Amino acid sequence: MSQISGNVAALKKEIDEIARLTGRSGDDITLVAATKMNDAERVREAVAAGITVCGENRVQELLEKYEQGAYEGSELHFIGTLQTNKVKYIVGKVQLIQSVNSVKLAKEISKCAAKLGIVQDVLVEVNIGSEESKSGANVESVYELIENISLIPNIRVRGIMTIPPISDNFDEQKCFFTKMQQLFIDIGTKKYDNISMEFLSMGMSGDYRNAILCGANMVRIGTGIFGARHYS
Ligand SMILES: *Cc1c(COP(=O)(O)O)cnc(C)c1O
Repeated sequence: MSQISGNVAALKKEIDEIARLTGRSGDDITLVAATKMNDAERVREAVAAGITVCGENRVQELLEKYEQGAYEGSELHFIGTLQTNKVKYIVGKVQLIQSVNSVKLAKEISKCAAKLGIVQDVLVEVNIGSEESKSGANVESVYELIENISLIPNIRVRGIMTIPPISDNFDEQKCFFTKMQQLFIDIGTKKYDNISMEFLSMGMSGDYRNAILCGANMVRIGTGIFGARHYS
């Protein structure tokens, strides 16, 4: 067994074990393989090993690998920061855009989806730690953002996503994840049009265990599947 397929198998088993501690099972958790900086061949290897959702960060890289058939047999999500002028390249190609952080971006997605005659599913990205360096909506503005998006055609919000502040302190991680879970539940109780809270996307290689314990049902894992990325 190759390293990638071994990693996928071990990860799925562990995700199942952790989910069971919360009264769920691995079937309730969507594992998104964060495929950035891994070429089409390695992505295909992950899909062959049982990955059913790939998440890509950069539009250019996504388009290149898409052309190469990297994601065949898998769903494709966009998980990185999305510039308005690049929206047109990915709407209709990806099942879920996880990183919607403004009305402006939502309107552009709507425009492109309308042209194709489709409804684009998205998640709203939340900057749960209010960090300068992160691009999600601040907690205080999330409700207004979601309310505004609910009025826009051809776009449907299916949950929320976050990248919390980096921390190896369990209590600190838990605090941010729990805040997200509360938002997820609270928004879900409000009956906005075109808004459903189905996916709580949080947890990466370093913190997915705690994220699942705090209610995540979608985790995005790169290093834990493909090994360390080599930036050059
Ligand atoms: C790269 C990336 C991940 C996965 O990161 P790892 O630490 O390698 O698991 C998850 N989410 C987003 C948005 C990413 O860019």
